[in-house]
Amino acid sequence: MRNVVIIGSGCAGLTAAVYAARANMQPLVIRGLHVGGQLTLTTLVENFPGFPKGVQGPELIDLMQKQATEFGAEFLEGNVTRADLTKRPFVLEVGSDRIETSTLIIAAGASARLLGLESERKLLGHGVSTCATCDGYFFRGKEVAVVGGGDTAAEDALFLTRYAQRVNLIHRRDQLRASKIMQDRLQRNEKINFLWNTVVEDILDADKREVSAIKLRNVRTHDETIHPLDGVFIGIGHEPNSGLFRGQLDMDELGYLITHDGSKTNIPGVFAAGDVQDRVYRQAVTAAGSGCMAAIDAERFLEAEH
Ligand code: NAP
Repeated sequence: MRNVVIIGSGCAGLTAAVYAARANMQPLVIRGLHVGGQLTLTTLVENFPGFPKGVQGPELIDLMQKQATEFGAEFLEGNVTRADLTKRPFVLEVGSDRIETSTLIIAAGASARLLGLESERKLLGHGVSTCATCDGYFFRGKEVAVVGGGDTAAEDALFLTRYAQRVNLIHRRDQLRASKIMQDRLQRNEKINFLWNTVVEDILDADKREVSAIKLRNVRTHDETIHPLDGVFIGIGHEPNSGLFRGQLDMDELGYLITHDGSKTNIPGVFAAGDVQDRVYRQAVTAAGSGCMAAIDAERFLEAEH
């Protein structure tokens, strides 16, 4: 029987682990499908306080994990496949392991959203990718597209210019959502070709299991074009990993867990932190901050019971 189990090993989960471990709660962190969370998919993080020259995302996660381990946090590889939050202790299943815990911190993060095209699903891993930093290397000297207009798409497009000879940034509107500094960097980069007011209708060629072209439609003129290229990166945002808790925890229409009074969910003893409950800020530093809040809330909850 655990005092506290933390689901997720990204920035929020690891910060919760540091705080809970320092408070002698001996937290168990279930690392999840995507160990280390979204920071492990990024490169230089320039806006995490304390690193004036920036820090590599994977390194930041590594440091946080070392810090949590230093104070006694334990880690379990695996993914929670079932969660029973109807009564305490809460029961989690991780493969064949059954874990009971007094309190639970959900920091399961968010996963990349897809366009929903059949061809996209078939070509994922065969020229279609949601992770530029993981797969960019394969497109040395090639032409690629990045879909999206936010910071993820901007960052992916800029990163891909290191390898690709041309990067087409496909956005459904005529204005980017990305921050000003990223927009400026995109504008200054000669390898970036903007395709405004454009949506992806199809990715070719699913039958050959390789990307050969992309079928585009201009939403203003309705013109359709086929644009030959070698790779497509989807950077259209993320969806919260909250499906396991549907029907048990309150969530909004997009699936983000709803928290109140800090990190509390609708079930006493269950707390949420990071991107799984944040549809507004979604930054490394806000995820870390909310992980800290969840650990303090869990500690106070346990204290109040004794
Ligand atoms: P986002 O800000 O939600 O942007 C998603 C983009 O994808 C939007 O431009 C959206 O278009 C487009 N989009 C969404 N669904 C689409 C669809 N079905 N088809 C075509 N386009 C679609 O997501 P994000 O870029 O992942 O960023 C999330 C958060 O993380 C933000 O707060 C961002 O600042 C932060 N972030 C920060 C950094 C950094 O600071 N270096 C890096 C990455 C992310 P519309 O604009 O038309 O809605």
